[in-house]
Amino acid sequence: MADPVKSIVTPIRLEYDYTPGRATSRFLRGIARHCILGQECPKCHKVYVPPRGSCPACAVPTEREVEVRDTGTVVTFSIIRVPSENIHFELPYAAISVLLDGAGIPFFHVVQDIPLDQVRMGLRVRARWVATEALAPTIASIECFVPSGEPDAPWESFREHS
Ligand SMILES: [Zn+2]
Repeated sequence: MADPVKSIVTPIRLEYDYTPGRATSRFLRGIARHCILGQECPKCHKVYVPPRGSCPACAVPTEREVEVRDTGTVVTFSIIRVPSENIHFELPYAAISVLLDGAGIPFFHVVQDIPLDQVRMGLRVRARWVATEALAPTIASIECFVPSGEPDAPWESFREHS
């Protein structure tokens, strides 16, 4: 008698239609006009980027919109060596958590134009946007971040985020 089948290995694919909601919709519309919008908590004044529509720490809505800079500080990073569908960066590359100037929480993206062994916490970076005519309401309108050439940010300026 043949052994019973206990498991099979099969490729699986899940596709999502993501409905962004009000706060994220406004954020994405901002991106389409070269503008990074966050929302400030009225109680703790933390600026959420992308905005979530509320502050999870204070449990209040965040309605005041704040434009943040497209420059920031790398607060942590990871070297990616595994391919992923829809990610077009050449392997290996550095995924970063970047605290944009004016934001209260870091934002995930990729840094390019720097050797991987020089990517570091405190590295100052700026967004590289797609051409103006290609701007669209997608985070892909920011191609990547690149070093800004500024001196590294001091640890004290981002310690709570790393
Ligand atoms: Zn708050």
